[in-house]
This record gives sequence, C-alpha cells and structure tokens, in this order.
Amino acid sequence: MNLNHYTRRHTSEVRIGECRIGGNNPIAVQSMTNSATADIEQSVTQIERIADAGAPIVRLTAQGRKEGEAFAQIVERLRADGYRTAVVADIHFVPEIASIAADYVDKVRINPGNYRTEGGDLERLIAKCRRRGVALRIGVNHGSLARHIFDRYGDTPQGMVASAIEFLRICAQEDFHQVVVSMKSSNTRVMVHAYRLLVEQMEREGMHYPIHLGVTEAGNGLEGRIKSAVGIGALMADGIGDTIRVSLTEPPQNEVPVAQLLVNHFAEREGHFEVAHPERYSPFEYRHRTTIQTPVTHDEADERFMVVEATSANPTAEWRAALLDAEPSQPIIIRRRYEDADLETLAVCAAADMGALFLDGLADGIWIDAPQHPAEEIRRIELAILQAARVRISQTEYIACPSCGRTLYDIEGALAEIKARTSHLKGLKIGVMGCIVNGPGEMVDADYGYVGAAAGRITLYKGREVVARNIPQEEALDALVELIKANGDWQEA
Ligand code: SF4
Repeated sequence: MNLNHYTRRHTSEVRIGECRIGGNNPIAVQSMTNSATADIEQSVTQIERIADAGAPIVRLTAQGRKEGEAFAQIVERLRADGYRTAVVADIHFVPEIASIAADYVDKVRINPGNYRTEGGDLERLIAKCRRRGVALRIGVNHGSLARHIFDRYGDTPQGMVASAIEFLRICAQEDFHQVVVSMKSSNTRVMVHAYRLLVEQMEREGMHYPIHLGVTEAGNGLEGRIKSAVGIGALMADGIGDTIRVSLTEPPQNEVPVAQLLVNHFAEREGHFEVAHPERYSPFEYRHRTTIQTPVTHDEADERFMVVEATSANPTAEWRAALLDAEPSQPIIIRRRYEDADLETLAVCAAADMGALFLDGLADGIWIDAPQHPAEEIRRIELAILQAARVRISQTEYIACPSCGRTLYDIEGALAEIKARTSHLKGLKIGVMGCIVNGPGEMVDADYGYVGAAAGRITLYKGREVVARNIPQEEALDALVELIKANGDWQEA
C-alpha cells in the first residue's frame, strides 16, 4: 500500500466463465440470488435481473445435493436465454456439494471455517476445478472461523488471515492459481484491517490472488449503503479489490448500481501527497491520533478544531497526509464539497472517501459540504458514516444479512417492521438473519437476534443464547420487543 498516491495492487488474472478479474481487468461487480436455488424458474429470473442491472457474476447458495444438481438446469436455461453471466456456487459444510456444483458452474466459493482440509477434500475439489476451468474463492467470514483457528487467534483479523492462508497454501502447493480470496465481516474495522493484513501476508508469500471485497450483514437503505461504502471504499482507496459485492437486505439487483457507483468513484485517483510522518500510521490497527473521545459532525465543532479540506481527485490520501503531518494533539475536521444532486450518490461517495480516516483513528470530525441538500439529511449521513466506521454510535445498529436461498421467511418485510419499532433504541445492536445455519455465527456482535429457523418460523437470541425457538413470524416482533423490555434495554420513543 502506497501512502503517497494511488496504485492498484498487482494481482494475477482469474477467469470466471467469460468474466476475467484481477490483472488489468476492471473491477467486476457481483450479487447473489435470494430465491430457493432449487426453484429453477425463480433462480434464473433473479440471475437475469441481476445481469440486466449490470453484474457479470452472480452467486447462488447450494446447501444440499438438490441445489447442487439444480445448477445444471439453471446454467442451461441461462445460456439458452442468451446470458453469458458467470455463475458461482456458494458452499458451506458439505464438500460433496462443492464437487457436484463444480460440474456446472464457473466458480465455487467455500468457507474455510466450515470446510474440511483433512481427508483430501480440498485437493479433490481443486483437481475437479482444474479439469473444468472452474475458479475457486476462499471466502473467510469473521463469524465462522474454524475451531482450531478460533482457539489460537480468537475472532480477530489475524485469525481470519490465518484461516485464508491455510487454504491458499494448499492451492499454491497444488499449483492451482485460479483462486480468489475474501475476508468479510459486518464490523468494518475488523474487515478493513483483515484485508490489509491478508494482502501483506500474501505479498510475503509471493501470492497475487485477486481479492473479492464485501461487508457482510450491512442492512438496507441509506445506512446499509453507507456501511458497505465505508468498508469497501477504505480498501479501494488503498488499491485493493478486484471484484466487489455490496450486500443489502433488499432485492438483489439493488446491490448492483451501488457497487458500480463505487467502482466508478475509484476509477480516477490522481495526485501525489508527501507523508511527512509515515511512522505515525499503521494500516492494521486503530490508532487514535488525538484525545477527542467522540468525533463530531461539523455543526457540533468548537474553536479547538481545525478544518482540512480535500480538493484533489484522491481525497482519502490527501487527508491522510495532512492528518499525519499535523500536531498529534490538534483536533481536525475533514471537509469536502460534494456537488451530487442525488443524496444516495453523495452518501456513498462521501462514505467511501471519508470512512477510512475514522476507521484508522485519524480524523476527529466530519463535514460534508453540500448546501443543495437539507442540513438535517447531511447530518444524518455524517452520523451514519461515523457509526459505520464504529467511532460514534448514534442510532440502533442493524446487522441484517442480505438473505439467500437458505432464507425461508420474508426478511425484507421483517427488517422494515423491526426498524419501525426499534429504531429509537440508540446503541442497541439487533441481528436480523436469514437462516439458523450461518446467521447466529455471523451476528456474534449483536445484543439481540431475530433468526429464520424454518419456513415462517423465527428463533430469538439474547446475545449468543437462544431464548425462544420457532415462533411464527407474525408473533416474533412482539416477542422481540418483550425480550428487549424484559432485559431493561427498552426506552419509550
Ligand atoms: S445468514 Fe443470511 S445470507 Fe448467510 S447463509 Fe444464512 S440466509 Fe444466507
């Protein structure tokens, strides 16, 4: 990573069907279906919708043999309809399903946290992928690290890197290089530091695998977009990332324009900024530069604060150089003018530019200069960026998965209703997850959890503990509110 100017990290090229990522290829956007994968009709319709929105890569979950076999028809139908979209199978737990899916798809994603390495399963999958020209993603999730990794490192960025490297070394030993790697978390700070650590470790080992970026469980609406943009943007500003997914708890095609906006936003990153004190910076940890406890929005700042405005085409590097040069005790507000007429575009671009300065602990205040928009909307975006960067909590935090073929209830509707009832509970973290298999692990951070257990059934969690199982969805929201009240975390709106 170059602190002085933007350079895109050099990676090897990986072929995913007709799409190529890494090397000199543009950053590819992708999304994932949330229909039942074995429902061929629905799956093909969703893939085509996502492709029409502009994504060349689409992923589908495959939890069992039926879903693995369904790829044969899905791919056939898709090609018959004239779509060249690359199809990816998402596999957890069952190596046999990865092997079945690899007969039909262009890429297989496995999670090292729940995929066996002993017994030669990975070597056999690699051999099959090699025969058919199928790519492999080693997709680490913060919330589902393998037991031996967790015992040694805890759920830390270091643990995530160790998890990926263990699998990448096997790929390298097998001389298999059609490999992509990801390190997702719903905690943007963990996610950003994990990816940067991974890149450093890969460089040390001479590995140039392309990187898939994403923030998991980002939620929906403006806040979901901002959270994704803070995490993904911080890394894109470092030149990291060959393919990206913006996960939203919304119809999957909604993810594509947001991801494309991020790609376009980072297409031009010009400017050279001398960093006088590189020793003050670490890309791998949060180092609070000043003693200001809580970063401010621009309307809250007092006379102690100095304003640093970025005007170049690479605002993140421009601010970082200025902040590292400034007196360590001087509180600084970062400011930039955004001319966008559309509030969502403005929010995504500002989050992508500014988030890194808060994730790394450098800036003390945020000033989005956009007089074309109402001041209260701008303040909401400023607060959401600070919250997404985990430096100031001013709203309820929703850790909501985008849902996938494992989801058996109306998660979008549920999230909307849960938000309507609980959005005044400032500082509370509520997990809203599609399935009981991966959901509980992925929402480790949440105070309360609302998790799909079976068709139309919800299981409620307090922290990591199950408190009510298999409640009908119609009763689950009231039960969640009662649970929050019973634990003394409720406030009247
Ligand atoms: S937690 Fe959500 S996105 Fe992840 S596997 Fe379960 S339903 Fe799918």
